[in-house]
Amino acid sequence: MCGIVAYLGNQDAYPRLIKGLHRLEYRGYDSAGIALLNGNIQVYKKKGKVSELEAHSAQQHTPATLGIGHTRWATHGEPNDINAHPHLSGNGRIALVHNGIIENYDLLKTALQKEGHTFESETDTEVLVKLIQAIQDRDGLPIEEAVRLALTRVVGAYAIVVIDQQDPNKLVAARKASPLVIGIGKDEFLLASDATPIVEHTNKVIYLNDEEIAVLHRSGDLEIKTISNEVQTPYIQQLDLKIEMLEKGGYDFFMLKEIMEQPMTLTNCMRGRINADEGWIHLGGVEEYASRITQAKRLIIVACGTSWHAGLIGEYLFEDLARIPVEVEYASEFRYRNPIIGEGDVVIAISQSGETADTLAALEIAKEKGALIFGIVNSVGSSIARVTDAGSYIHAGPEIGVASTKAFTGQVTLLTLMALDLAKRRGTISEGYYHRLLTELTLIPEKIKRVLEQDKKIQYIAAEIKDHTNALYLGRGYNFPVALEGALKLKEISYIHAEGYPAAEMKHGPIALIDDNMPVIVIATNKSAYDKIASNIQEVKARKGRVFAIVPEDDETISQIADYCIEIPETEEPLSPLLSVIPLQLLSYHIAVMRNCNVDQPRNLAKSVTVE
Ligand code: GLU
Repeated sequence: MCGIVAYLGNQDAYPRLIKGLHRLEYRGYDSAGIALLNGNIQVYKKKGKVSELEAHSAQQHTPATLGIGHTRWATHGEPNDINAHPHLSGNGRIALVHNGIIENYDLLKTALQKEGHTFESETDTEVLVKLIQAIQDRDGLPIEEAVRLALTRVVGAYAIVVIDQQDPNKLVAARKASPLVIGIGKDEFLLASDATPIVEHTNKVIYLNDEEIAVLHRSGDLEIKTISNEVQTPYIQQLDLKIEMLEKGGYDFFMLKEIMEQPMTLTNCMRGRINADEGWIHLGGVEEYASRITQAKRLIIVACGTSWHAGLIGEYLFEDLARIPVEVEYASEFRYRNPIIGEGDVVIAISQSGETADTLAALEIAKEKGALIFGIVNSVGSSIARVTDAGSYIHAGPEIGVASTKAFTGQVTLLTLMALDLAKRRGTISEGYYHRLLTELTLIPEKIKRVLEQDKKIQYIAAEIKDHTNALYLGRGYNFPVALEGALKLKEISYIHAEGYPAAEMKHGPIALIDDNMPVIVIATNKSAYDKIASNIQEVKARKGRVFAIVPEDDETISQIADYCIEIPETEEPLSPLLSVIPLQLLSYHIAVMRNCNVDQPRNLAKSVTVE
């Protein structure tokens, strides 16, 4: 949510900032802006995409070797030129970009107004730059000290970068609950919300920790201290990210590329962690805390959005295979409802970015109460990866499309590995079934390829659904969360209202919506409930609903009654979500393209939700 980029070095800052903003645009795209320091500070800001900022600034800007940039996902104040970042101090001396929310901005603003400060924008951010100015004016402090003191008065979340016209050899950055990465190049620093703008310049990075402030000097010196003024030793890490991972690679949209990558990303997720022939699973994170996890009284999964759906599949897996009670919680609700957590609990956080603000906060509560906290994340080095006691990366590579696809299947694969490992350790699974599931799991990437080969057919079916305004997704058991995920995918990128339901719940309400105008997408791959799902389909057909069914290859019964069918390869039921979700991803992708929607950057959304 919101992308920050900054440059200090001996090269022209402008092209680096613009390219960095393009890389970060998936995090927010309401407006964009840059500030360049060359004698004085010049600011260029524009509502809309980075390309609009570029059109506005390309001819006007003067060369500079220090600058900051921002692509916004508005929280306070509508997306327009004025509310766009960077924001300036009243005297024009300081420019600041911010990701997050200053929660006590109103209080600070009133106090500053009493001192005579005026405000142009409706943002919370402008309050912070004016507060820094007020402190600097009053005490004549260097910029880093004024920033530090200002931050001691701020409540909320922030990643900020600040420049001061009177100090052209310095970048000041700080973070609390919003991410910030410092790239250390040869005679230059590149700083950003994530590593995507940095990787083409250097692979040496420092992930700033919460409540740390960094001062980067043109000389190459770098200092880090805490907001409470304790000096910290910087920890430099190597990035393991390739430029190709950040490009569309010939696809029209990142989302399609990411859907198509899934055979590879799941292979990467399992690499070195499973051997079906020898019958073992190795998950470093689990092994480290094996006895605590194996003896857990309860697993609590906290997540948001698509990750929450993966968590629901986790609930079926852990209860069914490892016989451990599981609760799946929306992180945003969990953190505010005084949850009952004890030392016997293991809290598993699932987050693609590893920066989801609510999930991070939920983890902190769980940690305080003595639970073991475990992370399932994609972004290496992210906040959740760093605060958890243990965890496992899904190794899906950067996910740029706002609608999550490969991260979802990676999360479900990881949960499956974990559930199988725990089932084996707890003795709740028979040897034969364990081996069958292991073997089947290693075959999933090949089977996904077979589903992807049906892309043309799915495109044809998409054309049948694209003009509708509503859709219903039904599934049972392991495939109920897949129904929720299918509906979410359709909503987020094509703006068609859709709901997911357990198939049997249909008659408790949603059946009232069914008429000949209602597409009903049914996941009918569960062997254990096949006949029941067939009956649910009959109920829809009896009310003239149009049924689009996901069925196993060589299906005979449901294919006779559904209007359209997509066949997926047979697999063991606990693994079926990994296959049944693929046609639903493709379906929503094609529908969105047919409706001329911006698939990768759906309206009002942004990747990596770093604000509450
Ligand atoms: N709260 C700030 C604003 O609305 C920053 C939002 C963001 O993280 O992009 O401008």
